[in-house]
Amino acid sequence: RGDPRLQAISEAIRVVPHFPKPGIMFQDITTLLLDHKAFKDTVDIFVDRYRDMDISVVAGVEARGFMFGPSIALAIGAKFVPLRKPRKLPGEVISESYVLEYGTDCLEMHVGAVQPGERALVIDDLVATGGTLSAAIRLLERVGAEVVECACVIGLPENKLHSVWGIHRGRTGYDRT
Ligand code: AMP
Repeated sequence: RGDPRLQAISEAIRVVPHFPKPGIMFQDITTLLLDHKAFKDTVDIFVDRYRDMDISVVAGVEARGFMFGPSIALAIGAKFVPLRKPRKLPGEVISESYVLEYGTDCLEMHVGAVQPGERALVIDDLVATGGTLSAAIRLLERVGAEVVECACVIGLPENKLHSVWGIHRGRTGYDRT
């Protein structure tokens, strides 16, 4: 709260009404990636929070978790593990399905990428219902990892989760606590 970087980060995120379908206010972080200062500030805010939390795994959700996760992982001394959509990973995988507004989707993780007892951070660009992050948490917990926190750049107003940390409308903190 009161961090002067946050307003510029919010302003760098383009909002596109009715994309990809009518009624959706699409939060487009590609414009944030074009703004070097706002992009770096976003990564730095996460790095400042997570550098001393003894995190050994940053797990990024396809596709936009891949745009922030590796930079955070390198800066805090952790490995990066991609959580991918089905049939993208070539090795042995475990899968978790989650419910979407219409139908279901699925995230997969390579077996052996994360060891029991590792401390993990999950990162995505945005949390709406939390269904995607919940699937990510289940994948990590199935292999015995501890999910320290989930982090997103954006939390939508309808978000009712209590355990997502992020940058949201000019402030940092837990959303809806
Ligand atoms: P949810 O599982 O409902 O929390 O949805 C979060 C996932 O859907 C994230 O991977 C987001 O990238 C994507 N998403 C959902 N709603 C939006 C939106 N309004 N703008 C951009 N991405 C969205």
